[in-house]
Amino acid sequence: MAGAIYGAVDLGGSKVLSLVATPDGEVLARDRRPTLAPEGPEAVLRQIEDSLRAAVAEAGLTLAELRAVGIASPGPLDVRTGVVSHPPNLPGWGELPLRRLMEERLGLPVAVDNDATAAAVGEHAFGAGRGARHMVFVTVGTGIGGGIICDGRPYRGKSGAAGELGHIVVQTDGPPCGCGNRGCVEALASGTAIARRARELLAAGRAAALARLTAGGEQPTAELVHRAALDGDEDCRALLSEAGRYLGVALASYANALDPELIVLGGGVLQAGEMLLAPAREALFTLTLPQIRRDLQLELGALGASAGALGMVAELHREMPA
Ligand SMILES: [Zn+2]
Repeated sequence: MAGAIYGAVDLGGSKVLSLVATPDGEVLARDRRPTLAPEGPEAVLRQIEDSLRAAVAEAGLTLAELRAVGIASPGPLDVRTGVVSHPPNLPGWGELPLRRLMEERLGLPVAVDNDATAAAVGEHAFGAGRGARHMVFVTVGTGIGGGIICDGRPYRGKSGAAGELGHIVVQTDGPPCGCGNRGCVEALASGTAIARRARELLAAGRAAALARLTAGGEQPTAELVHRAALDGDEDCRALLSEAGRYLGVALASYANALDPELIVLGGGVLQAGEMLLAPAREALFTLTLPQIRRDLQLELGALGASAGALGMVAELHREMPA
């Protein structure tokens, strides 16, 4: 087979996604399985190896035929050393030398990057951001994260922590955020924030359609809030609209700071579609300065759940070509 073949893994708190791909992002095989995070690091490392081996076998290859393996991991982590430090979604990890441990298991060179940065690189290399010089990627899911592409490369900052886009403050003295501050966009527009606000509405006897959807004891989620809003629940519509507006306020801050050609949005909460996107777009294009706003695009990601793993393929191809 001509050219290098890469293995890539997106490690999440609940799922491991592995794929085998060519340098131009053609996916030859993929595997998806549970992370087994509650069982601790040893079980998770085994899941990564088993998942990767399954994808390699499905591609009709052996591990030794891979040029290298990239792992998109929850942070915080050090890209240079490949050490992951106390990731909130992976209990018991402490300071874990993920790169070294996986190199020992696989007998291959391994690169590790922050999952949101990797997803930004993936969308830039193979997805919605192809051809852009300056791009901001924002993922809205349980939390809000992202990555910044500056002059075609991920912008990492002095310590590698750049791109913590969920912790831009959009409401001084707003609700508490997991980071310890108040009023971060993550505390107002993430799936977790929408669910928390929905619980408050239900406790106050509001959101009648959502109350019907959760009558069996289900916890309200952003997805159920969206479904209730589609059923005409005005409280849920207002909730999504408010979350969208806060998201747009944050997007405008990123745009005014970075003057990108393109902002790409990903993550499960975007399933709420225009109910969230329309107010976000309006706030973005109202609050950006005229020169910044001109030729600025807002688009949805094209790669879905594969963005992080494909970003690792792009990084490996740049760092470890055939
Ligand atoms: Zn925060």
